[in-house]
Amino acid sequence: MTRAARIAVVGGSIAGCAGALAAAEAAPQASVVVFERSAGALRDRGAGIAIHRDRFAELAAAGFLDASLPGFHAESRRWYTREGAAEVPAMGKPLAAHPFPFTSHNWGQLYRYLRERLPERVEYRPDTRIVEVKPTPSGAELTLADGGSESFDLVLGADGYRSVVREAMFPGITPEYAGYLCWRGLGDMNRIKGLPEEAFFTVGIATGHLIAYPIPADEDGGTRLNWALFSTVPPELTPDFTTATSLPPGAVSESLLDHLETLISTQLPPFWADAVRTTAREDVFIQPMYDLQAPAFAQGRLLLIGDSGAVSRPHAAAGALKALQDAAALADLWRQTPDATDVAGLDGLDGLARRYDAVRRPAGHAVVALSRRIGQAQVRQVPDWAAFGEAELSAWQAALTQAPDGTIMGGRPL
Ligand SMILES: Cc1cc2nc3c(=O)[nH]c(=O)nc-3n(C[C@H](O)[C@H](O)[C@H](O)COP(=O)(O)OP(=O)(O)OC[C@H]3O[C@@H](n4cnc5c(N)ncnc54)[C@H](O)[C@@H]3O)c2cc1C
Repeated sequence: MTRAARIAVVGGSIAGCAGALAAAEAAPQASVVVFERSAGALRDRGAGIAIHRDRFAELAAAGFLDASLPGFHAESRRWYTREGAAEVPAMGKPLAAHPFPFTSHNWGQLYRYLRERLPERVEYRPDTRIVEVKPTPSGAELTLADGGSESFDLVLGADGYRSVVREAMFPGITPEYAGYLCWRGLGDMNRIKGLPEEAFFTVGIATGHLIAYPIPADEDGGTRLNWALFSTVPPELTPDFTTATSLPPGAVSESLLDHLETLISTQLPPFWADAVRTTAREDVFIQPMYDLQAPAFAQGRLLLIGDSGAVSRPHAAAGALKALQDAAALADLWRQTPDATDVAGLDGLDGLARRYDAVRRPAGHAVVALSRRIGQAQVRQVPDWAAFGEAELSAWQAALTQAPDGTIMGGRPL
C-alpha cells in the first residue's frame, strides 16, 4: 500500500519558502509542513538583494521568479575612493565604471513573493522552533520546542547558518568567522541628492570598502539606499564572533557604532559619509562575516538548502540566489526521479537526495570560495585603491570575480 510522502521544511525564509514550493510542485501528493521559529513578519530585518539578470531569467524559466517582483535595473558598477585625491570631490575620486547587469530587490518583498506563492496545502507553522532532528532509517523525527515530536519521510533543512538539521548530519560543523564585519543599513533617499541612476557603487577605503545601491522600499513605494560597509576592526573592539551570530538593529554596541562613525568620517568621501548617516544610528545592524561549506548537502533523508549548506560572504551577490537555485534544482531532479513522490518508492527518495547532493554541493561550495576570494582581496588585503587606473581596476575585477569552474559574480549558472 502506498501513502503520500510527508515532507518537513525546517526554516521558512527564502530557502524554506522556495524549498516548500519545490516540494509542493514536484510531489503534488506529498504533505508539506514548514516549521518557522519566528512568530512575526520576517521582512522587518530585510534589506537589499542583488540578482544577476541572467540568473534571474534562469529562475524565471524554472518557475521560481517572475517580473512582478519589484526591482531596479542597474547597468554599471561605479568605483570611487577618497584616498589619494588632493581635493576630495564629494563622491570621491572616480576610479572606474564597468557593465554590471544586476537588478536590486528588497529582501522583504522577495520573501513575501515566495511566501504568497505557497499553495494552500503547504502548512506554514510560524512560531514553531525545531530543537532536535533525529535521523531514522526511513526519514527523521523532529522534536519541537513545545516538547512534541513528528515523523517525516524527508526533511529539507532551510534553517540558515545555525542549522539544527546540519547539526544532526555533521555535529560540530559550524560557520567560521572570516575576521571582519559588515555594518548595514537603509539610507533615506529623500536626503541623498545627486546619486547617478542605474548603477551600483563601490567606495574603496583603507580597511575595506562600502557598497551601495538603491532598492525598492518595502512599505511606501519609494526608494531606499541599501548600503554595506565591510571593514576589519581593531581586536579590542571585536566581540567574540567564533559562535556565529548577527547583530540586529538595537543590538549593536555603542563602541561598534562609534567605530562606524570613525570609519565614515575619516575614510569615506563626504557624499557617501552623509548618505550612510541618513540611517538612524539605532537602525544600523551588523553581520559578522562567516564561511561555511557543509561536507555534503544530503545524508539519508536530510537535505540542506540555502545557508544551512553553504554560507557565503555577500561579496559575490549570490546568497539568496543560491538558496533559490537549490530549490529549483531540487524540483527539477524530483520530477526526473521515478517513485520519489510516495513512500512506496523509498529508493526514489534516497536517489533524489544523492543526486541533489551531487548537483548542488559543488555549486554551493564554489560560491563560498569565490566570495572568500573577493573578501580577501577587497577587505583583508586591501589594494591601493587610488593607484588603480580605470582599465586596470576593471581587469582586476574581471579576473577576481570569475572562478575557473565557471562561477562568477552573481553566482553560477543554474
Ligand atoms: C529576516 C532576515 C532578513 C534578511 N535580510 C537579508 C538582506 O537584506 N540581504 C541579504 O543579502 N540577505 C538577507 N538575509 C539572509 C538571506 O536571506 C540568506 O542569506 C539567503 O537568502 C539564504 O536564506 P536561507 O533561507 O537559507 O537562510 P535564512 O534567511 O537565514 O533563513 C533561515 C530561517 O530558518 C529559521 N530557523 C532557524 N532555525 C530554526 C529552527 N530551529 N526551527 C525553525 N526555524 C528555524 C529562521 O528563523 C529563518 O527564518 C536575511 C535573512 C533573514 C532571516
